[in-house]
Amino acid sequence: MSQSKKSTIAVRYGIEADKHHGAVVPPLYLSTTYSFADFDTKRAYDYGRSGNPNRDTLAQTLAHLEGGARGIITATGMSAVHLITQLLNHDDTLVIPHDCYGGSYRLFTSLQKRGLLKLAVLDLTQPQSYKKILTIKPKLVWIETPSNPILRLTDIAAVANAAKEIGALVAADNTFLSPALQNPIKFGVDIVVHSTTKYINGHSDVVGGAVIANTAELGEELAWWANNIGITGAPFDSYLTLRGLRTLNVRLKQHQENALAVAQYLEQSPYVSQVYYPGLESHPQHALAKQQQEGFGGMVSFDIKGGLKDSAAFLTSLKQFSLAESLGGVESLICHPATMTHAGMEPQARLDAGVGDTLIRISVGIEDVQDLLDDLEQAFKKVQQGNANGSDDAKSFKLTPAHTALW
Ligand SMILES: *Cc1c(COP(=O)(O)O)cnc(C)c1O
Repeated sequence: MSQSKKSTIAVRYGIEADKHHGAVVPPLYLSTTYSFADFDTKRAYDYGRSGNPNRDTLAQTLAHLEGGARGIITATGMSAVHLITQLLNHDDTLVIPHDCYGGSYRLFTSLQKRGLLKLAVLDLTQPQSYKKILTIKPKLVWIETPSNPILRLTDIAAVANAAKEIGALVAADNTFLSPALQNPIKFGVDIVVHSTTKYINGHSDVVGGAVIANTAELGEELAWWANNIGITGAPFDSYLTLRGLRTLNVRLKQHQENALAVAQYLEQSPYVSQVYYPGLESHPQHALAKQQQEGFGGMVSFDIKGGLKDSAAFLTSLKQFSLAESLGGVESLICHPATMTHAGMEPQARLDAGVGDTLIRISVGIEDVQDLLDDLEQAFKKVQQGNANGSDDAKSFKLTPAHTALW
């Protein structure tokens, strides 16, 4: 199976494994407990927290797709992130990027405040940070590329090489591209983390996470911890997530075809001051994207010309894009990071991360792309005509800064 191409693995792994009835799709096992075959003789499974066939099929499929030795399925993306921190002792240092996912940032800084680990925050998109890793001597380096929301890239091989020099482990959050478009283990990463809530499930109806280790030993240690702290994913969630995963490659193809068209449209639009998409030649790290990614993904961000009022007017004039956090579902979602996903950040830190009042992030779906482009155009025109109901006053803005779901 691991010799097959990724789209074949995603479709075929675990198919026709049912010995009883020859069910083509793996049956759903909800039982929390399994009988012993005989006195002192356990079967493959004994208890649902420790092991479940649906969870294992999903884990193995993802391990094959990432080129890893072992996968672990967790209840949420955040529990997958949390699982990795079990590898650290209180005097171990964790290096994280300054613009990592907000929930991860909150978890790491909370653990640091309680003295459970040491933290060093670096801008891993900058080559100077590779030297800093050598002097900080962390136990683990955390990578997230492309970053959220302005899609900056980290050179995975460069960071992994620096980490190897001092014997540090490297973990990469690969949620934004999915295993279809990026395999960090190929570039020297030890552990890949996913929020399967996003592209892997792909239908905005299951919250889940996954961890893939590059060696059986590391996988065993992480699986032990996942069972120990009780964060393994539910059977039905695993069943649904595997169903979503079957179409990952074909969905991603359409996501990125649409995303490129949206990015190109935005780049020539008179209403837009800046577009962020690694697939555009104008993206400063376009060459790195081509080197380490197998595609450019479905996320596009841009700055609308004007101010907060214009962002609000634009966002509330769209019909084909849902104003919502999260990403990776088949439907197009649009969000205003400054008041939504990144509202919990200090204003200055937010600006340093490139998240101003005019920044808008799109998770481009797989709809007919012309419908998406027409909708964007009519919304821009409404903003320009002043027909829309925007306001420069953040308080009367429909999305209140108190909306901090991801924080
Ligand atoms: C959503 C997300 C997470 C957290 O996953 P949940 O499934 O929401 O717990 C972690 N990392 C990234 C990059 C994400 O987008």
